Amino acid sequence: MENIIIIGSGPAAHAAAIYAGRARLNPLVYEGMLAGGIAAGGQLTTTTEVENYPGFQSIGGPDLMVKMRAQSIHCGARIETKTVDAVDLGQHPFKVFVGTQCVETKTIIIATGATAKRLGIPGEERFWQRGISACAVCDGALPIFRDKVLVVIGGGDTAGEEALFLTKYASNVIMLVRRDVLRAAKAMQERVFANKKITLQWNTNALEAVGTEKLEAVRVKNNKTGKESMIAAGGLFYALGHNPNTAFLDGQVALEATGYIATISGTTLTSVPGVFACGDVQDKVYRQAVTAAGSGCMAALDAERYLSSLESR
Ligand code: FAD
Ligand code: NAP
Repeated sequence: MENIIIIGSGPAAHAAAIYAGRARLNPLVYEGMLAGGIAAGGQLTTTTEVENYPGFQSIGGPDLMVKMRAQSIHCGARIETKTVDAVDLGQHPFKVFVGTQCVETKTIIIATGATAKRLGIPGEERFWQRGISACAVCDGALPIFRDKVLVVIGGGDTAGEEALFLTKYASNVIMLVRRDVLRAAKAMQERVFANKKITLQWNTNALEAVGTEKLEAVRVKNNKTGKESMIAAGGLFYALGHNPNTAFLDGQVALEATGYIATISGTTLTSVPGVFACGDVQDKVYRQAVTAAGSGCMAALDAERYLSSLESR
């Protein structure tokens, strides 16, 4: 019987593993085997330099995750490179299913992250991280985007926030919106409309990312008139929303309407006592490595308290 099973391998999972390991709880981490299409180590394995994680002026995303993994092991975590297929939270101890294996555990920490939605247009794979990004806050300040025309796709709050953020670096920002309205909150819309560096192209879909070594243009189509055109651009930012990785839970933990795991505010407690959630799988607002790590620490402390309460019963 395990004390704590941690599912995931991003900053949230490793912060939880470090704290649980140091608490001598002998945590078991299932880091996933390309779960949700992402390598063990999580979203930061898909990026280059990380410049906003305290303690590192600049560090490669994959390097940072290698260091976190090593620290988890150093602190006593056991890590298996396997994906959790399903869980049974209907009775305590909980059951965790991994391939043909079924492991019982007193607590579970869910740190399975979220996957940024992509369009799947031609050129996307080729120019990913060479002009295309799904995180303006993370990548927008990079030199390759300075004083360039930058394109943001999406009409939600994230798109508005990213477009506004990018105006600090870009010569101008073009938002491609597939409908003739924004989904973003009115306050966000007002800020977007008021910013002279932002122009909106309504009823517009991106068809192709074009370039040689890096992105140089975006081929677009007006879905009302059918007219195609080319926008010369140095950057393309997707703000299409994220899919939290919760399918394996099969509805056994309460989710918010947005699909993220619902947690009690200020804690990592979920609808199931003994099951905790941290990182991007429960965070639709901040979605940063440092906030994920912070909530991973909270999850380990919450789980430790729960285990103590089990013992004293
Ligand atoms: P994730 O990093 O999403 O990791 C979750 C892991 O769990 C994944 O490896 C996944 O495969 C695994 N998993 C999923 N399901 C299962 C399962 N069933 N069983 C086992 N494992 C599973 N933030 C910053 O602070 N600074 C940056 O510079 C920065 N740059 C970014 C660049 C890009 C391109 C992207 C996409 C994001 C960036 N972010 C950055 C955001 C940051 O990466 C995330 O906020 C952070 O990684 C979230 O951590 P997490 O621990 O919640 O989960
Ligand atoms: P979102 O609200 O789901 O918006 C996604 C946007 O992408 C929508 O405009 C959608 O268009 C568009 N889109 C999706 N798929 C597309 C495709 N294939 N082609 C073109 N466009 C596509 O996601 P989000 O903006 O990330 O926000 C998620 C949640 O977090 C929301 O609840 C939001 O309010 C919240 N949030 C809040 C803040 C804030 O308060 N400051 C900041 C960020 C996020 P349609 O509109 O046509 O569907």
